[in-house]
Amino acid sequence: MKYVQPELPYDTAALAPAISEETVKFHYGKHEKAYIDNLNAMIEGTRFENLSLEDIIREADGALFNNASQAWNHIFYFFSLNPGMNGEPAGALRKAIERDFGSFEQFKADFIKAGTGIFGSGWVWLAADSDGKLFIIAEQNAGNPMTRGLIPLLTFDVWEHAYYLDYQNRRADALNALWPLIDWDLVESRYL
Ligand code: MN
Repeated sequence: MKYVQPELPYDTAALAPAISEETVKFHYGKHEKAYIDNLNAMIEGTRFENLSLEDIIREADGALFNNASQAWNHIFYFFSLNPGMNGEPAGALRKAIERDFGSFEQFKADFIKAGTGIFGSGWVWLAADSDGKLFIIAEQNAGNPMTRGLIPLLTFDVWEHAYYLDYQNRRADALNALWPLIDWDLVESRYL
């Protein structure tokens, strides 16, 4: 089957100034689209054609893994964002964050530290195991914690293409600017 890039549930300018319209157009419109096009070309006529994207990520390696995971990661990232959120985690997720990281503020600091500590390209993740324990996972390149058997809850893209137009070399500023955009209800729904 052919994967189709889902349309964003908000206007390309809606995330500004945290993420400019230009960055959304390049990042989602060009980078993410290219991963999906590459994925579709690679799976055509192969045994991967009828697998779910998640199964491709768990089973493939090399270029197919890279394109499949990048296709999935970007959709997960962009759909976790929404303008006008300014929220914080609540409920069971909040309790688990406080249990496993001490406080929400400490979690945010640890998450940004892990994201800025990735050398080169990658993704920083909040993920849970099957017992509900939370982990901050730093993955290089197209990495996804699903390949470690963990459940992805939230991710920030630390590839330079994610922020260079708006923040140049200031990765920490780019990552910290994302907090007001996080849809914590959606993140918690992934945890429950
Ligand atoms: Mn990206």
